[in-house]
Amino acid sequence: MKRTLYRIIYLYIPVLLFIIIQQAGIPAAAKEKPPENETYLQAFYWEMNRGEYAEKYPGEANLWQLITQRSHELAELGITGVWLPPANKAEDPFDEGYAAYDLWDLGEFNQKGSIRTKYGTWAELEQLIEELHNQGIKVFYDAVLNHRMGGDEKEEVILASGKKMELLSRFELKGREQYYSKADEWQWDWQAFDGIDLKEPELFAGKRWDNSADQDYLMGLDIDYQNQLVIDELKEWGLWIINEVGFDGFRLDALKHIDTEFISEWINYIQDNSGKEVIFIGEAWYENNLGLILFLKKINNEHIRLFDFSLRRQFSLLRDGSMNMKALDRAGLVNDPAYGERMITFVDNHDTGRDHVEYTSPIFRRKCQAYTYIMCREQGIPMLYWKDFYASGIRDELEKILIARRDYAYGPSYEVENNDAEVYSYVRAGLEERPGSGLVMMIAGGDNGELITREINSRQSEQLFYDLTGNVGGIVKTDENGTGHFSVINSGEKGWSIWVPLPLKE
Ligand code: CA
Repeated sequence: MKRTLYRIIYLYIPVLLFIIIQQAGIPAAAKEKPPENETYLQAFYWEMNRGEYAEKYPGEANLWQLITQRSHELAELGITGVWLPPANKAEDPFDEGYAAYDLWDLGEFNQKGSIRTKYGTWAELEQLIEELHNQGIKVFYDAVLNHRMGGDEKEEVILASGKKMELLSRFELKGREQYYSKADEWQWDWQAFDGIDLKEPELFAGKRWDNSADQDYLMGLDIDYQNQLVIDELKEWGLWIINEVGFDGFRLDALKHIDTEFISEWINYIQDNSGKEVIFIGEAWYENNLGLILFLKKINNEHIRLFDFSLRRQFSLLRDGSMNMKALDRAGLVNDPAYGERMITFVDNHDTGRDHVEYTSPIFRRKCQAYTYIMCREQGIPMLYWKDFYASGIRDELEKILIARRDYAYGPSYEVENNDAEVYSYVRAGLEERPGSGLVMMIAGGDNGELITREINSRQSEQLFYDLTGNVGGIVKTDENGTGHFSVINSGEKGWSIWVPLPLKE
């Protein structure tokens, strides 16, 4: 007994102290962490858990659980932020979430015939957020603030035309009752809305459409952002999502149809009343730079970032084989120095990347070329689309492109002088703090299958490079100026190469 005590005091306690000091990070503090690229993931798609996809990917029936299981894998791939689908109860609980019914019910209350949503329960969502945070990944809430759907009770509403109507515009929210919001003080009824669609948008009596960038009316019961009770509740809700539920930011749905003054005020309120830097990414669907710029000017808020729909429009030309590759040096708003840092770049999303869409078609060709472009680029934060990665048969290819971003896409960027209509090349010089980083990226817009070789200054002298994608074999050695002869195949199927430094043998 005495001997055991002796061992505890003289042997285990010093060892324990040493471990505690190590854990406290005292020696580690001297070593500065090298910079890491941000890469986001949109973690859902429209057809998820429907039809053939439900049969092929049964795990997607419980998305919150599935992302929890994959959180380590996502961190390993370099994912630093995840955009989840709307977690709120919808008109039909198995709807994608955009037919928003009750924003305070995240799969917690028995409403609309179900506790869970299409994606799972609130308990599963909480676990998911915790797990993503453990992996160092931020989580973004998809906020549907434009409209509501699924009113419970009919009430008489007078339209601006003077006509009286019986409308399902009263939300009883019986399952939730007074939990969370000020439902004891007021009720979501026709007064919370501006109008509804009856063949065409009909304004309610005494209302006016909000001051939005585009037409205020989009769908459902259009929320009235002149109503102070509505404004106050949605501010309270937004803060709850960040401070209580634990999200790190928002993807804001249909932003061009919402009062811009309200959105700006809402963003500032949440940012100012939360203890962290909140990420706000707006969906303002303008497929040209001017539309995006005018929207940014109108909303006039320094915190807002936007998806670069203008760049995505260029990818549709790339897909169709009609892209002048040289023009990729200035494609989209991401390459405008005044706005580049506020752009989230993407190739497809749940709207553009559907199997059947009327208004656009997915980037079904040269998808990897487009991903190579956004993942290697210095400007913008790129976003990977779940369906492309997990349900399109190009996972191996995309994994290599993600690794290029995670490990090599660092340092100053250089446009290549001999870019032309066929091939676009681009250089990252690498960073000293990240030894072995830097790359020469090449993408081709044609289909003749020829190997195209270009003389390119990699900014790394006497360095061996290999194509991480595996599309082109062999090694390139650069001269004392950093110049080498790099190649890419001019084809839709193999037309992207990411040349990275070959690790030197010890
Ligand atoms: Ca609206």
